[in-house]
Amino acid sequence: ANFEALGLSPAILAGIRDFGYENPTEIQVKAAPIILAGKDLIGASQTGTGKTAAFGMPTISRLGPPGKLRCLILEPTRELAAQVVENFERLNKYTGLRTLLVHGGVGYGKQREGLHKGVDIVVATPGRLLDFMGEGDIDLSGLEVLILDEVDRMLDMGFLPDVRRIVEKTPSNRQTLFFSATMPPQIKGLADWALKDPSTVEI
Ligand code: AMP
Repeated sequence: ANFEALGLSPAILAGIRDFGYENPTEIQVKAAPIILAGKDLIGASQTGTGKTAAFGMPTISRLGPPGKLRCLILEPTRELAAQVVENFERLNKYTGLRTLLVHGGVGYGKQREGLHKGVDIVVATPGRLLDFMGEGDIDLSGLEVLILDEVDRMLDMGFLPDVRRIVEKTPSNRQTLFFSATMPPQIKGLADWALKDPSTVEI
């Protein structure tokens, strides 16, 4: 398969060309049609498989022109969140979509400023996001796509209750993409609760 056959937007294809990627990885080929169709997805795959672009390319293709906050990505650590933002900023070179990183361990001011300036995509760790939600700095009511990444690591770190509280504040008609390398019962339970009729992609 090649990128042109995946049905991605021209702006995303231009971004990928700049990355220098030659061909899509297996998970990218398998996930694109599901995500582009607006369906929920469970991806049982590790980092290193091209997972970030697998959810990034089709999601960004669907978002269209810049507007309000429509996509939220939850990550267990600030390092992973920062990597996703870096990847998304490059993918978004020709789309104009704005991505913001929200994580703990630093001051609130700059992140709050970013939220109020307007963003299309937020990549966040759960604790700091809940702080902003509690203070009314972030409005998830227009969310179209929710991406829960590295869910097994969120479980290890004790974040599943926080994740549930966040999911509860998102519209029920959202699209949900769920990534976890393993599926113990607690994670299966979260997936059953958060996703509607998901397709599963295993790599
Ligand atoms: P990830 O699984 O998202 O952490 O990606 C692992 C690495 O693969 C990152 O350095 C990506 O930039 C790179 N990558 C992702 N997609 C492709 C692709 N289609 N071709 C070559 N490298 C890729």
